[in-house]
Amino acid sequence: MKTVNHWIGGTTVEGASGNYGPVTDPATGAVTTRVALASAEEVDRAVRIAQEAFVSWGQSSLAARTKVLFAYRALLDANRDAIAELITAEHGKVHSDALGEVARGLEIVELACGITTQLKGELSTSVSNRVDVSSIRQPIGVVAGITPFNFPAMVPMWMFPLAVACGNTFILKPSEKDPSAANKLAELMTEAGLPAGVLNVVHGDKVAVDALLAHPGVAAVSFVGSTPIARHIHTTASANGKRVQALGGAKNHMLVLPDADLDAAADAAVSAAYGSAGERCMAISAVVAVGAIADTLVEKIRERAEKIKVGPGNDPTSEMGPLITAAHRDKVASYVKGAAAQGADVVLDGTGYTVEGKEDGHWIGLSLLDNVKTDSDAYRDEIFGPVLCVLRTDTYEEGVALINASPFGNGTAIFTRDGGAARRFQLEIQAGMVGVNVPIPVPVGYHSFGGWKDSLFGDHHIYGNDGIHFYTRGKVVTTRWPDPSDAPAGVDLGFPTSR
Ligand code: NAD
Repeated sequence: MKTVNHWIGGTTVEGASGNYGPVTDPATGAVTTRVALASAEEVDRAVRIAQEAFVSWGQSSLAARTKVLFAYRALLDANRDAIAELITAEHGKVHSDALGEVARGLEIVELACGITTQLKGELSTSVSNRVDVSSIRQPIGVVAGITPFNFPAMVPMWMFPLAVACGNTFILKPSEKDPSAANKLAELMTEAGLPAGVLNVVHGDKVAVDALLAHPGVAAVSFVGSTPIARHIHTTASANGKRVQALGGAKNHMLVLPDADLDAAADAAVSAAYGSAGERCMAISAVVAVGAIADTLVEKIRERAEKIKVGPGNDPTSEMGPLITAAHRDKVASYVKGAAAQGADVVLDGTGYTVEGKEDGHWIGLSLLDNVKTDSDAYRDEIFGPVLCVLRTDTYEEGVALINASPFGNGTAIFTRDGGAARRFQLEIQAGMVGVNVPIPVPVGYHSFGGWKDSLFGDHHIYGNDGIHFYTRGKVVTTRWPDPSDAPAGVDLGFPTSR
């Protein structure tokens, strides 16, 4: 069986705790790999190595940093397929989807390649007599990144390229469910010329995470995962004096107005609800149909969903793969099985689906629930599987009120041909990312990603300008250089004011 070890100080470091976690191929259900789970002592060693590396990396030139990042970009580009294969083998998503994840991560590497212009700072000359003021941003030290299973390459790349471009050193604690892609990303960074200890991967579970949150050598924590854990990370890391951004779960709504192009809306709903088997934080999990279009829209979604081919991620004909674990598959199925008793109409029931010859895979088909009630479990919980709920309202206002009543506020979308309604929606809706006729509005790398309410704890969204701010701290330098001809200023006990 393959073993995934830590990557610390620019090399593989075998797990020393004696604890390992199983990694499963979701398409077969077979345990293919074991991943080392770090103890608090192993975390401490990694933090010390990252602290040592920070001494020189934090003072390295922007030219030295961007040289590494440009080389990294080329290596990632050349290794897209290899990374995507690792993702599919452990996560289960289809190869094309895994390639998409690598491409979106690469966007942030490209942003980091331009750190020279992003970190330019500000200068005001002659703010007072012979006085100039400059604002600069400096790295914060060792940053920890804790990432979820559903994007084993992209979410780490939301974090470490910008963090190291800003001069920090980094400890990545990937999901223990699909750990291999993280090691590949770190190995390629070393190959690109990143000095040892600047980017480290420490595998583990709650033990490793809590050791990072408690460690005085960790200055900041970036977290992406479920809402209960995001809350725990934010509370604990803040109490320990760290800067923290913790992105949580979601329930993303798509409001479809009566004037929308219903074929386009149905295409978008199916793509966004069932892509990656619904295991995306930006998946559409609730369609809100406004007015008399609901029956037609549900029928169009059903027709399309029925045609989706579910199968192994490495089969090029598959459009949707299995779920991450059998336990998660069973939990997702329980929402569909309990839906009718809570008032929904089960239009499509994907439970019980299997793939011939791979019956132990974590299979489930596509489910579509209509007339879902807002107090039902299927609506209230983040299901994180291929289950789309349809809710119905009579008016735009009722639809917006329904969406704004959700405790989550990650992404949302409106489908309409009415520019005025779309404009109103942008301003009225309580979510961090809004799509207009775009079902999955994941911002490009140079705009930041983040939700509102229970979908994000902390003040900074991730990547883009917010990411650069999060990974640096500001310093303002006030300078006076008297002219040689100036008479001495003399003693003045008054509070300094500009002259
Ligand atoms: P998760 O919260 O279970 O795990 C995320 C990370 O936290 C993992 O590295 C895991 O090892 C660690 N962890 C788990 N339990 C912990 C505990 N008790 N204490 C300390 N650390 C712990 O999330 P997941 O199941 O891996 O990922 C799916 C979730 O992530 C979904 O809720 C999804 O919406 C969310 N997500 C959010 C975004 C976003 O940008 N908002 C992006 C991707 C995924």
